Amino acid sequence: MSELNESIRMQIESLDLDSNRPLLLCDADEVLFQFVKGLERHLEAEGFHLDLVSFALFGNIKHSESGAPASRDQVGELLSGFFATRLHELEPVPGAAEALASLADHAEIVVLTNTPPPQRDARAKALERGGMPYPVIANQGAKGLAASALAAGHKSPVVFVDDIPHNIDSVLEAVTRAQAIHFVADPRLRPLIPKAPAALHRVDEWPEAEPLIRKALLG
Ligand SMILES: [Mg+2]
Repeated sequence: MSELNESIRMQIESLDLDSNRPLLLCDADEVLFQFVKGLERHLEAEGFHLDLVSFALFGNIKHSESGAPASRDQVGELLSGFFATRLHELEPVPGAAEALASLADHAEIVVLTNTPPPQRDARAKALERGGMPYPVIANQGAKGLAASALAAGHKSPVVFVDDIPHNIDSVLEAVTRAQAIHFVADPRLRPLIPKAPAALHRVDEWPEAEPLIRKALLG
C-alpha cells in the first residue's frame, strides 16, 4: 500500500479533532461549490468551453472557435489557471452552508478536497466566505489514504460525501466502517453519473441530504 504524501500527513496532523465525535468528510467541488459553473467562466475567458456529453473534463473541454478538444497539456494548464485564480469566485451550492451548520452539532467536519496544496488557503477563505468555516485538507489523487489517516482513532461513525465514484470507492476501501453519500450538485452532470454502487445514498440536494447524513453520523 502506498504511503500518505508528507504534505497531506502534516495537514492532517495539524487538525484538532475530537475523536469521540462522529466524523463527516466532505468534498468541495460539486458538493459545496458550483465547480463546473465556475470552470465554464474560466474556460470562456480563455477561448474554450465545456461540452457536457460525459462526466469527464479531458475530451469535453473544446476550443470555442474550432470545436477541437483541448490537448491533455492544455487541459492541465486550464485547470491550473482555474485553481490559481478562480477559487474565490466559486458560488456555494444552495443549502450547503445551512446543512453543514446543522450537522456540525453532531459531528466534526473536515473538507477533503483535491485542491493543489498552494491553493489550500484560498479554498479555506472561500469556504469561510460561503459560511462553511471548516478545516480543509488539500488532497491529491485518491482520497482513501487521507480518509484513513483522518479516521484513525475515531471510534464514532465516519461519513464521506463526494460526487466522484472512484473517490467513494477509494475511501470505502480504506475505511471499511465508513459510509458514503454520493452527491452531484450540477443538474446537468447528474444524468451523466450513475449512483456509485458502494454509496449508501445518492442524493443531489442539500435539504434532502442533510437528514440522511445526520442519520448515518448518529449510527
Ligand atoms: Mg468533487
